[in-house]
Amino acid sequence: MAIIQGECPKCGKRVLHVNVEHIVGMVDGTSKARCLSYSCIHCNTIMGVQIDPRSKPRLRSSKPPAAS
Ligand SMILES: [Zn+2]
Repeated sequence: MAIIQGECPKCGKRVLHVNVEHIVGMVDGTSKARCLSYSCIHCNTIMGVQIDPRSKPRLRSSKPPAAS
């Protein structure tokens, strides 16, 4: 299958640069995590959002450390 790499799904231009913005992930109206968004520099379409890998959110739902 053909994989089209590096083209904006909106405007179809090659994506050689992206706008990276810091945004805040909201859960139930409360800011929970720092996120990053990537948007096309040509048409500003958001192409991706991810949790900021440098942030260290404390997730209570994560597995607690096994205590003996
Ligand atoms: Zn675009």
